Amino acid sequence: MQKFNQGVCLMCQKNYERDLTWQQLFSWEVIEFEPLCGDCFKKFVPYRFQGERCRACGRKLDGSTQYQSSHRLKDTDEYYCLDCYRWRKIYPLKLINNQAVFDYNDSFKEWITRYKYDGDCRMASVMKQALKKAYKQYANYIWLVLTSSESSLKERLFHPTAYLLEIADIPYCCPFRYIGNEMRQAAKSRKDRLALTRPYAWINIEEERLKGKKGFLIFDDVYTTGATMIQAKLEITQNFEAISKGKIDLKSITLARNQLIG
Ligand SMILES: [Zn+2]
Ligand SMILES: [Zn+2]
Repeated sequence: MQKFNQGVCLMCQKNYERDLTWQQLFSWEVIEFEPLCGDCFKKFVPYRFQGERCRACGRKLDGSTQYQSSHRLKDTDEYYCLDCYRWRKIYPLKLINNQAVFDYNDSFKEWITRYKYDGDCRMASVMKQALKKAYKQYANYIWLVLTSSESSLKERLFHPTAYLLEIADIPYCCPFRYIGNEMRQAAKSRKDRLALTRPYAWINIEEERLKGKKGFLIFDDVYTTGATMIQAKLEITQNFEAISKGKIDLKSITLARNQLIG
């Protein structure tokens, strides 16, 4: 018979002993256990913004090829990875900045494959505590998720980033409409193809929601080239800065930052 304080690790499927505090033992509240064994838990390494990192996205620049492709913005001490360097020449830092929660290591890659691509929604609980912690830090922002295309929603039956926030009890909204797919079918002329770079259209958000908030925070799973995030931030800027007289703060958090060169 399985003991009350024994669990099955979601990552490695091994049985493990779950530690119980006295407080948990004598409380009537539902006990929340870590869904991972100690070994697997340790493999999710919190992302540290230190060393030779891209000023905007935190990508490591110390690997030989990445370092060579890093760029310093003229007359500043700001080093960027190649992707962000290109963006930075066009956009202000506020639109490019992104914070990652975990290192993009093998454990993270396995997690995202099983959660997002295999559609195993139980894996969402692995991120719960880390997200709750992030929310404590940024509770004064309106958390937003990007919309999925109809086809990927149908395929997965759940919205991967929204579901993560639901599990962690983080209020969010999705004021975007996905227009990428619809455009793709119609993309014949050059003008249409250029419009493809704009996958989201802003629907709306009640101004009431902004009261007492510092700004918007977009949450996504993995940051790759930044294109998606920047497009979404541009939509917000275009729709909100006029109303707010440019005072809206914009942030983005992703679970990880893909280390591949874009
Ligand atoms: Zn394990
Ligand atoms: Zn970067």
